[in-house]
Amino acid sequence: MLGLMQTQPINLAAVLEHAGRWHGDAEIVTNSVEGGIRRQTYAQTLTRAKKFANALKSMGIKTGDRVATMAWNTDRHVEAWYAIMGQGAIAHTVNPRLFPEQIEFIVNHAEDRLLLIDANLVPLAVKLLPKLPTLEKIIVLTDEAHMPDDVRGDARWIAYETLIADQPETFDWVEVDENTAAGLCYTSGTTGDPKGVLYTHRANLLHAYASLSKDVMNIGATDNILMVVPMFHANSWGLAFSVPMCGGKMVLPGPHMDGASIHGLIEQEQVTMAAAVPTVWTMLLNHLKTTGGKLASLNEVVIGGSAVPRSMIESFDRDFDVEVLQAWGMTEMTPLGTLNRRKRHLAPGADMQAEYDRRCYAGRAPFGVDMKIVDDDGNALPHDGVAFGRLMVRGPWVIERYFKQPDTALENGWFHTGDIASIDTDGYMRITDRAKDVIKSGGEWISSVDVENAAMGHPDVLLAACIGVSHPRWEERPLLLVKLKDGASFNADDILGKIGENFAKWQLPDAVIRVDDIPLTATGKIDKKPLRQEYMDHFLNAEQNA
Ligand code: ADP
Repeated sequence: MLGLMQTQPINLAAVLEHAGRWHGDAEIVTNSVEGGIRRQTYAQTLTRAKKFANALKSMGIKTGDRVATMAWNTDRHVEAWYAIMGQGAIAHTVNPRLFPEQIEFIVNHAEDRLLLIDANLVPLAVKLLPKLPTLEKIIVLTDEAHMPDDVRGDARWIAYETLIADQPETFDWVEVDENTAAGLCYTSGTTGDPKGVLYTHRANLLHAYASLSKDVMNIGATDNILMVVPMFHANSWGLAFSVPMCGGKMVLPGPHMDGASIHGLIEQEQVTMAAAVPTVWTMLLNHLKTTGGKLASLNEVVIGGSAVPRSMIESFDRDFDVEVLQAWGMTEMTPLGTLNRRKRHLAPGADMQAEYDRRCYAGRAPFGVDMKIVDDDGNALPHDGVAFGRLMVRGPWVIERYFKQPDTALENGWFHTGDIASIDTDGYMRITDRAKDVIKSGGEWISSVDVENAAMGHPDVLLAACIGVSHPRWEERPLLLVKLKDGASFNADDILGKIGENFAKWQLPDAVIRVDDIPLTATGKIDKKPLRQEYMDHFLNAEQNA
């Protein structure tokens, strides 16, 4: 028998509608692209979103059409993004840090009809435009005064503020089936062409509810939340929904993500919680070390996207009294898979070392994510903290198939994450490695994540990348590349000594090389692909030259 509850489908614009109506005075604060801080309430944001939704309608945008944004985290990006989804169209957030050929590929693959772009990214779009035939108009997220000169007066380019100026302030959000697509994000394509992940209204909504809860992000109306993680990185890890949902103050860095700007924003806006990948926090901690700055208002930081070095967890706690909450997820998971919060019996006593050990784990699954580890034949492995294998997930915000791909992305109903992990008796998951980064030495596996983590604990090391490179005898051996902190001097033995505190001799890198820079991916993770290409024959050459 059918239940007797209401069944109206949910359009994600309802989230902004709620924020505008019930948290109308709460603010979105933006360190703007044009320069200077801009403040806008949720009530204003809602009205402006409705004006832009009317503009989209007048431009003929319909349900299912793709509208791209290539933009930093700003108030205008947030309102325009809700307007696209509320219109029934699909907001395709494009990462401007991708290689130009990748941007060309994904905009064409998505068949985006419009592109919304920040003023400082216009030169990139001008260059790419001849290769993007599906784009009808480009909307620059600024006012007429700040339109870049090279596109001013060109009929294909419109200033966002001019476009919305005379639009009506009311709009009826389009009724959509909650299982239709609202957003599109491409994975960075470290293996082959980027793949599109289509988020539904339902998946985003359930994900946002889950992330608000106490054991996940634990945010509410009294919080000031700094979203450093960009909207083009899985909707700022879902914060672009969950923050307005609870009426928290949204603090947005725009394009200014260096240590000094992030610190300034935290102080000025009394930020209580912030989320970003480890490389951003490395820059901030480095900045604070040289300036002696503090993080008085900050209680917690959510860090994910790649493994969090233990030294970072310790520094946040000891020097700034900030708790690091490690998170693990994927674009394909909307993106949250686990978050690391304490369980009752793990309350820290005097033993902070054990507490730091726990914080090094990727965390445990909230309700909504089911996970398991399996061997190469698909047999489930025990959750004993020792066995490790292929990490598989399923749940209502996990991908079923990639955009425009006919085949399912699942194996027997589970999505293979591409990660190798262990799960302990309390359900805490630990990433050993990305399957493709695992180092196989003489039949044994060495975790590149663990070696990097230990190397980053050395006071002179800013960034570390450990890669497996060909070896005449052992198949592969670990090679460590380090970027040092400013003014530090290089001592390979000292760095190896630090790693050796926790590793057996055969697990230590065979060599440590100092490099000026370590390449990062478009989402700020260490990019091992070019490093592997460059150093693949390092030990073979060394052997020949010996
Ligand atoms: P992209 O490659 O585009 O950055 P994702 O953000 O989806 O794509 O990357 C997901 C991958 O990032 C995971 O499969 C995992 O390998 C890695 N990752 C995310 N969080 C963590 C973490 N806390 N520890 C280790 N690896 C992580």
